[in-house]
Amino acid sequence: MVTTGVQLIPSSDEIMKILRRTGAFREGHFIYPNGKHTAHYFQMPLAFRYYDTARVLAVALSRKFRVERDIASQLPKVSIISPSSGGIPVAFGVRDALNSEQIYWAEQENGQRMFRQYVNQGEIHPCIIVDDIIRSGNAIEETVKLVRELGAPIIGCGVIVRFTSAPDSVDGVSIKSLVEFDEKFYNSAEECGDCKKGAPEEHVRF
Ligand SMILES: [Zn+2]
Repeated sequence: MVTTGVQLIPSSDEIMKILRRTGAFREGHFIYPNGKHTAHYFQMPLAFRYYDTARVLAVALSRKFRVERDIASQLPKVSIISPSSGGIPVAFGVRDALNSEQIYWAEQENGQRMFRQYVNQGEIHPCIIVDDIIRSGNAIEETVKLVRELGAPIIGCGVIVRFTSAPDSVDGVSIKSLVEFDEKFYNSAEECGDCKKGAPEEHVRF
């Protein structure tokens, strides 16, 4: 890993090596709860178990924000927002790297995405939304609505991995990513090559 130089951002290949090594990127025959089949699976918290790899990933993402003059000029009065628990280690890492003042995270309660009660009182700074992975974009889009309700502008958005089928911007803000992954989904066993080969299947929860 090349980490010398002040603003170097690891390449997509280097990030994928980390994800593979930590088990966060897996190859096999996976079935999602919605019944779709894939040959790859990302379980990003596996990469964030380790201080070192978590730091490399978060610092790399933070550099994508720091190079934006509109973002850098507002630091440290910036809020880092995670749409879900999976994005919390990303948010803390990016907050550290940018030395921004605030951090918030949303959670699903009774099927609705929301911040914890009372958490959002007081001044909310302009927001950067970060997450570990964007698959459909629903979580980030719901979080944009929450942030809008608080009256704070969204000045940045970024993830470690973005599926190329996901949106590339929200609320007019482009979604930065360290890896763009072209995931193929098969809607049924009939369409799935691994099913035809009789490959053992693993059911995944997210
Ligand atoms: Zn299959």
